[in-house]
Amino acid sequence: MNRLFVISNRVGPLADGGKAGGLAVGLADALRRRGGVWFGWSGQTSEEGTHGQLHTKTEGKVQLATVDMTQADLDAFYHGYANQSLWPIFHYRTDLANYDRRNAETYERINERFGSRIGPLLRPSDLVWVHDYHFLPLGEKIRAGGYTGAIGFFLHVPFPPPEVITALPHAHRLVRSMLSYDVVGFQTQIDRDNFARFLVSEFNGKEIGDGWVEAAGRQLNAGVFPIGIDTKRFAEFATSAEAKRRFNQLRSVLRDRKQIIGVDRLDYSKGIPDRLRGFERLLEDYPENRDKVSLLQVAPVSRGDVEAYAELRRELEELAGHINGIHGLLDWTPVRIMTRGFARKGLAGLYRASDVALVTPLRDGMNLVAKEYVAAQDPENPGVLVLSRFAGAAEEMREALIVNPYDVAEVSETLQRALQMPLEERKRRWKALHETITEGDAQHWCDTFLDALESAIVRRREAEKNANGGPDSESVLEDVPPARKRSSAGSAKTASYTRTPILY
Ligand code: ADP
Repeated sequence: MNRLFVISNRVGPLADGGKAGGLAVGLADALRRRGGVWFGWSGQTSEEGTHGQLHTKTEGKVQLATVDMTQADLDAFYHGYANQSLWPIFHYRTDLANYDRRNAETYERINERFGSRIGPLLRPSDLVWVHDYHFLPLGEKIRAGGYTGAIGFFLHVPFPPPEVITALPHAHRLVRSMLSYDVVGFQTQIDRDNFARFLVSEFNGKEIGDGWVEAAGRQLNAGVFPIGIDTKRFAEFATSAEAKRRFNQLRSVLRDRKQIIGVDRLDYSKGIPDRLRGFERLLEDYPENRDKVSLLQVAPVSRGDVEAYAELRRELEELAGHINGIHGLLDWTPVRIMTRGFARKGLAGLYRASDVALVTPLRDGMNLVAKEYVAAQDPENPGVLVLSRFAGAAEEMREALIVNPYDVAEVSETLQRALQMPLEERKRRWKALHETITEGDAQHWCDTFLDALESAIVRRREAEKNANGGPDSESVLEDVPPARKRSSAGSAKTASYTRTPILY
């Protein structure tokens, strides 16, 4: 099997206990199964930064390799450009984006540095898989070092329409650099089509069939690969001792009240204030819910030093105080906000103890919380998922109750419907959702992306061979199943390439 070489900003944790975000959870699931190398930032700053020592460690089948950054690089690359320019624009929030040319230059330079650190570690037959908006131009930088093997890219966040992304200075350069990949993967059809539309309108590109696009003399597969969770494993978490402990703890506080749960990093893309307003409207429009339903919002603080995030925190605290002040009773607090993280098993218990999950981002690449909530339910008495139409997950999870998160009245009506839903309907919806997330789990996501990457490199080699008019000199796949070798690789010869030294 060709070695998998993954690159993402943060590396790990591979273990279940961690409080990782969506990207790390999805990748850890995939890497634990398949094995490979995981390269990224160490999470540490040092004077040498990306020029410093390569830290390596082996966990099971996975080799972890990381480098430090200098504090100045971290501020400009990560806090500055990635989180204050790219994150808001990719979530359609041009109003919140800051742009500083020096940060953009550092972003390019860090990508270059990563490219030159990664180059010597690669084998020609590797499947290199770059992740997310921190590393949009990394493929181009790796290629600049002479690597001609397979490189794929997956974008975990949305890809906005050309009209929005062009608000970013140098958007053209950035998107142009993405043409160095063999496969560019997106969470949803909408994201994929926005990307293709950019290539067509800005680079005179064209769709050439089967998801392939051609632009600026390059062909690549722009595909849709919705990320999944390890559904079976998460369902097992929900019946673990730790989950049961949390479940009982919560149910005893609730007594016979129902609970709505929200779980998100504290981020403006998640629509938490609108959600609280929706809940307040529920208490006003359907007063029978007073003293009968509580909202628990788990929202660990992220990027607390960025002003937009500090502002959001203040707004939430004010809103919760307002709702509790008006509606609360001596023994009933309508809204509880917790800014701490939970271990994954404990979180699974909280999901299972909740009658409704309110997952209402204003814009989200996928939203794994929606999938985790479904995985954690008791099949005999499942809860109801209320899901924003602007979460990537809404494209797949059609049996959820889909809402427009901006429409407070609609959120309130839908919550009422969820709280009143008969058991039979809950079971029917849950069963369909559960099938979807079981079929489209993390392994499926990983396998379909890597299959596409393997096919893409075979197709490129064929094209190169035809263009040169001679036999191919190098087989790119070590272990392709015979059927695929026959159909797409033709009469590929035995591999004969020099190996660059691996990590150790
Ligand atoms: P994002 O990647 O934007 O943060 P996702 O919904 O895709 O959003 O992923 C969030 C991940 O972070 C989920 O796996 C979720 O379980 C985890 N998570 C979020 N909040 C907490 C928390 N308070 N404690 C533990 N895990 C959390």
